[in-house]
Amino acid sequence: MTATPPFLSTLTGLFARPAAENPTVAMIEAAYRHHGLDARYVNCDVAPDDLGAAVRGAVAMGWVGFHCSLPHKIAVISHLDELAESAEVIGAVNCVIVRDGRLVGENTDGQGFLTSLRTTIDPRGKTVVLFGAGGAARAIAVELALAGATHITIVNRDPARGAELAELVRRRTPAGAEARVWVGAFRIPADTNIVVNATSIGLFPDVHERPNVDYTTLTEGMVVADIIPNPPQTEFLDEAESRGCVVLNGLGMLVNQGVISIKHWTGVDADPQVMREALREVFR
Ligand code: NDP
Repeated sequence: MTATPPFLSTLTGLFARPAAENPTVAMIEAAYRHHGLDARYVNCDVAPDDLGAAVRGAVAMGWVGFHCSLPHKIAVISHLDELAESAEVIGAVNCVIVRDGRLVGENTDGQGFLTSLRTTIDPRGKTVVLFGAGGAARAIAVELALAGATHITIVNRDPARGAELAELVRRRTPAGAEARVWVGAFRIPADTNIVVNATSIGLFPDVHERPNVDYTTLTEGMVVADIIPNPPQTEFLDEAESRGCVVLNGLGMLVNQGVISIKHWTGVDADPQVMREALREVFR
């Protein structure tokens, strides 16, 4: 007789549409295996109209939590009991934890970015230029602001989306923020400490595209991050590196949001290196 029941695994997964291309499963299951956890992570292709049923089903089956990706990150909130602070400010949830029958929504995207960023620089007291104002940019802007960044310049093609994010940061966090409409090559202000590409420019297969920036304004010592996970080394990062900037790729954000989710679901501190390797295999 074993002390633990041998045939009842801890259940987690992803609700998204489409779900088939999402590689998170590879890195999460690699961590489960590495740490000897009897746990599973299953990608589930869930239609928008079925989200409520999927959430109730997960609870009924004893899942300990799940990720939500497009198109469910906002819609899932109406099915939850509680939101963590940053998820509430961001207005989107990518990680749900089932705790004592209650559903708690977290946004680990921005937290994953922050963990990755902190390996090179503490955002407290720093000025930031952020390209993009979509879901990922929103999570990153809020987390940077809550972590003490003093000012964030949001550069976005769609003026309304950029202005809305700058307004959110000013209203809900202690940081200053302004929106700039992205026309022509953007010149990075000289006092910028951190530059982030949070657009989808450069994502596979468009690997030769890069943000429209006046690259002479990227200077030595600036920290330049790209959140594109595939390819991990984008042309944007190549350019920044050649100018003496400290660069951070998008794998760090992806891996660390997974590390944070696994901690929430299982209590285990997963090894990020194992997860990074699993992703590298996928993106090879
Ligand atoms: P959204 O669709 O919500 O936002 C896309 C953003 O990119 C918008 O700001 C959009 O501008 C901008 N954009 C897209 N194409 C262009 C272009 N040609 N020129 C200027 N701006 C452009 O997507 P998400 O925020 O959810 O995701 C963005 C990227 O981040 C994706 O590539 C995704 O793979 C990556 N990501 C990485 C994660 C990680 O862990 N590394 C986690 C989450 C996302 P506009 O508003 O004007 O349309």
